[in-house]
Amino acid sequence: MAKQGQIKAIKGMKDVLPDETRDWLRVEALCAQLFGNRGYKQIRTPIMESTNLFARSIGAETDIVSKEMYTFEDRNGDSLTLRPEGTASCVRAGIEHGLFYNKQQRLWYVGPMFRHERPQKGRYRQFHQVGVECYGWSTPDIEAEVFSMIKQLFNKLGLQNVVLYINSLGDSDSRARYKAALVLYLQGFIKDLDEDSKRRLNTNPLRILDSKNERVQAILKDAPSILDFLSEDSRARFDELQNYLKALEIEYQVEPRLVRGLDYYNDTVFEWVNHDYGAQATVCGGGRYDLMVEQMGGQATPAFGFGMGLERLIEMLREQNAPNLVEDDRLDAFIVSVGKTSRSQALKIQQNLTQNGLSAALHVGEGSMKNQFKKADKSGASLAIIIGEQESEDYAANVKILRKDLLEANPNFQQISIAQEEVFNFVTNLLN
Ligand code: ATP
Ligand code: MG
Repeated sequence: MAKQGQIKAIKGMKDVLPDETRDWLRVEALCAQLFGNRGYKQIRTPIMESTNLFARSIGAETDIVSKEMYTFEDRNGDSLTLRPEGTASCVRAGIEHGLFYNKQQRLWYVGPMFRHERPQKGRYRQFHQVGVECYGWSTPDIEAEVFSMIKQLFNKLGLQNVVLYINSLGDSDSRARYKAALVLYLQGFIKDLDEDSKRRLNTNPLRILDSKNERVQAILKDAPSILDFLSEDSRARFDELQNYLKALEIEYQVEPRLVRGLDYYNDTVFEWVNHDYGAQATVCGGGRYDLMVEQMGGQATPAFGFGMGLERLIEMLREQNAPNLVEDDRLDAFIVSVGKTSRSQALKIQQNLTQNGLSAALHVGEGSMKNQFKKADKSGASLAIIIGEQESEDYAANVKILRKDLLEANPNFQQISIAQEEVFNFVTNLLN
């Protein structure tokens, strides 16, 4: 029961509790490993930026900028925003530190993002993304590399039933011709469009394809396809990408209505979707944004990247009982001790074991031998190390095997007393 006056977390912002963080650490460690294996380097940017960074890069007509940002004035009267996504900050930092100046960069990041949306399954106000951004490559082979990396991550985690949808938004010419055709089509349904879509018909018609309004989505079913408006160049690079995907045996579907929720994309856009998960089914999305770096004041630099929602990813894995989500973090030893002198020796043994890479837990505070043994059993530790009063006087320790398979592998092993300074070597030999 909540006490009166008790302070709670902010709506839509979740604590990740001790029993859940293991999954998070596993996912983050795997990202670091898989991305690192291909030469991607992590970048860490502040979680707050000047508001106009997002307004300029993401686009004023997007849901994010028009209604979802956490924007406020700080004590100096400057307008700041909690970052709603990671790409704008990467571009800002890259320009500011000359990371793109005649250079190529493979970057990745992980961290919290903030959007004032209606909280529901898979949609929170603080959520976490892992993302990748590649700068300096204009050809689709870099895109194929990124798809392969995402697929690898899903495979290692055991995520199933995710479908990759890809589309091409073409270059500026392709989009201009398509926009004209789309507007013409939608004007025929103008009285059925919602207010947002009506406005966007004039400001940014492509955004309408991204509408979450069901009536609008129904109208869009027969809308012209952007793929019929691609320039020769854009068509060729889209074909090239698909050839790479086939060579890598990465399954995909072409979805001509996919535009993604941000204004800055050109050519390739994509989403990975798990249809079993419910309405918030997209776990990862991204695309190419070749014009943004120059538009933000840098040297023209082609760019490609994605953002992946970690809450959605982890919840999907849990729903699927993914076997690879949790890495075994077995405890090597549980140290039992009675009295202050033996406790002091137990602390020293724990320090020594953990310093040398083993894991060891310790009973803290007073407690009967019986009670401590119960805890040792429950801990799942491979071994118990026991320092009773007699052992303490003799600077000795008893070692006992707790883990079943280890007992079976050492059928003749009895509880054995050894010198305390031998514990590390003894335990290491026994566990190997
Ligand atoms: P959606 O259509 O679900 O609103 P989006 O197009 O706004 O997604 P992006 O901006 O592309 O999403 O963000 C990339 C990923 O981040 C999404 O695919 C999703 O997994 C995750 N994500 C986005 N918004 C949220 C949120 N409010 N809560 C949890 N995860 C989110
Ligand atoms: Mg959104």
